[in-house]
Amino acid sequence: MFESVIGLEVHAQLKTKTKIFCGCSTKFGESPNANTCPVCTGMPGVLPVLNEQAVTLAIKTALATDCKVAEQSRFDRKNYFYPDLPKGYQISQFAFPIAEHGFLDIEEKRIGITRIHMEEDAGKLTHDPARGKSLVDLNRAGTPLVEIVSEPDIRSAKEAVQYLKKLHLILKYTDVCDANMEMGQFRCDANISLRIKGTKEFGIRAEIKNLNSFKHVEKAINYEIERQAYILEEKGKVIQETRLWDPAKNKTNSMRGKENAHDYRYFPDPDLVPLIVDDKWIEKVKKTLPELPDAKKTRFVSEFNIPEYDAKVLTSSKELADFFEETIKDLKDKKQASNWVMTTMLGMLNTKGLSIDSSPVSAQSLAKLLKLLEDNTINIKGAKAIFEEMVETTKSPETIVKEKNLEQVSNASELESIVAAIIDKNPKEVEAYKNGKTKLFSFFMGQVMRETKGKADPKIITEIIKTKLQDIN
Ligand code: ADP
Ligand code: MG
Ligand code: ZN
Repeated sequence: MFESVIGLEVHAQLKTKTKIFCGCSTKFGESPNANTCPVCTGMPGVLPVLNEQAVTLAIKTALATDCKVAEQSRFDRKNYFYPDLPKGYQISQFAFPIAEHGFLDIEEKRIGITRIHMEEDAGKLTHDPARGKSLVDLNRAGTPLVEIVSEPDIRSAKEAVQYLKKLHLILKYTDVCDANMEMGQFRCDANISLRIKGTKEFGIRAEIKNLNSFKHVEKAINYEIERQAYILEEKGKVIQETRLWDPAKNKTNSMRGKENAHDYRYFPDPDLVPLIVDDKWIEKVKKTLPELPDAKKTRFVSEFNIPEYDAKVLTSSKELADFFEETIKDLKDKKQASNWVMTTMLGMLNTKGLSIDSSPVSAQSLAKLLKLLEDNTINIKGAKAIFEEMVETTKSPETIVKEKNLEQVSNASELESIVAAIIDKNPKEVEAYKNGKTKLFSFFMGQVMRETKGKADPKIITEIIKTKLQDIN
């Protein structure tokens, strides 16, 4: 009887070399506070200077999600006190964000994107209760972020995960963000409320902060839906608050009452001029946009005539899609190549825990292997064996074929005499076959394969055996 209403806010770290308002490096993993200066540690009298590349990447994010880029946007101060925020305010865009009114398509529906705004990240606190101390590392303070806010168009945890995976994929395709969730480069706040099915008005929402894996998002939303349903069924009231997901206990806990925008006393940052983005800038960024996942998927289906499912798997990362396209360049049988990439390659990489970029088999050598298969130089059994060898030795398929003498016997006259000899040697089976025991066909196939050590072309021997058996009266 309840319907859930969900809106997501995603913080994505823009892939710049330096921070958003100073020249400090954004490199991850440096010793604490190594990447800091008077600007990002909030010393008095310093001035922020906006990083042009961060704006370019924010524009790119906006274009990739069909948002309208604002000609003029502005940076505001969001005032609050926290030890990881040395200025006492965060520079963020509030009243005038860099982009608005976009959307993103998930399986069966379109999810609206309300706005994208730029802001700086805060530092990191490490609490040490044993010593009664907290430590602050400001390396992350001032890292550029975009916050991508969805419309409350999402209706289930499943849809939320679909939306996030799609957004994650787009950010990686466009290379605006590395989007490593464990490293906090892509994190999500989920807003959830329930309403009676059929009613229009939204219910009171809870916001679950800082979810850093798709699994956590799914579990936290489902938990929250149940928690709120229970409250509403008991005629209680859901309170507007910020909650945290506890992955160990599989539940959300209240963190604080929800603050409202006016609590932050936003006002325009007097140290920064309004941000003007002209058409020329937008056009320039547009030219750097790659083919996006949906477009690529559609093209794979129409251009290579492979099933929708294959196209989806093959475009699940840009690197994999590039690998596939490189592989099939000179191959006729695209579907066969698709099977090999999806099953054999991905299976091997998965077993070895490798990414496609560090694959021991390159697209070029896989292409050579599949070419040998297309030419009937080797058969499928040989191809599988060669592939294994390629993985272990990184030798070329041609070398392995020669070394292992795996060339398929497809010379018809040679195969014909082999088949004839086998028929001569097995009169009983021939007779039984002629009397209707057609299952014996595979017996003859097996014999030929044994004789040729598995190197016979199955298509050719099938034909030869058929004719030879027919010829016998
Ligand atoms: P903030 O959380 O910073 O106050 P907003 O009010 O803009 O920001 O809302 C943030 C997110 O919450 C958006 O994704 C929006 O779609 C979603 N949202 C707003 N109201 C509700 C609601 N009643 N139920 C679920 N989600 C909501
Ligand atoms: Mg929020
Ligand atoms: Zn700095």
